[in-house]
Amino acid sequence: MPQIGVLAIQGDFDAHGVALREAGAEAVLVRRPEQLAAIDGLIIPGGESTTFLKFLARDGFLEALQSFVREKPTFGTCAGCILLAKEVRNPSQESLAVLDATVERNAYGRQIDSAILNADTRLEGGPLEMVFIRAPRIVKTGAEVEVLAERDGFPVLVRQAKLLAATFHPELSSDRRVHRLFVDLVRSGQSH
Ligand code: GLN
Repeated sequence: MPQIGVLAIQGDFDAHGVALREAGAEAVLVRRPEQLAAIDGLIIPGGESTTFLKFLARDGFLEALQSFVREKPTFGTCAGCILLAKEVRNPSQESLAVLDATVERNAYGRQIDSAILNADTRLEGGPLEMVFIRAPRIVKTGAEVEVLAERDGFPVLVRQAKLLAATFHPELSSDRRVHRLFVDLVRSGQSH
């Protein structure tokens, strides 16, 4: 069974642990950079990307994560998506800069910043429930980025080789298709 870490320094990491187990993986809460060596993939959860950056500034965590995300499958949700993006706006901030995308933080404005939508995606099995909470918007993607779902014409679920990113929170819905997709990505990485 693949061992998938969930970055557990901030945000809703517990729900991702449950979702990963339901999707057929073992979930490991990652709180120290040394733990990255023992996992096959990683989820960077939602939360507050600026708070993540503050924690990651300690003990070489950011540098360790920077090498990890270049080598192993990583799934960023919401704040995690912001951390993976090459360019962050509103305001501009540091990131792991691996996902060829430009992301605008808190892009939906105060009134509609949180929403639950049901929409078609490129995943099999019909419409997917998507929970958005103070979500960012992916405003630009590079040629290597495959768009798997959109909201109002902007990507909300994207894949670039071993990277997966969602601007919504799949761990808060009972549908496990997105987590299964990531577990499959990790499994295919293991067989290489
Ligand atoms: N608004 C947060 C940020 O900019 C992301 C919100 C979330 O992860 N639910 O980092």
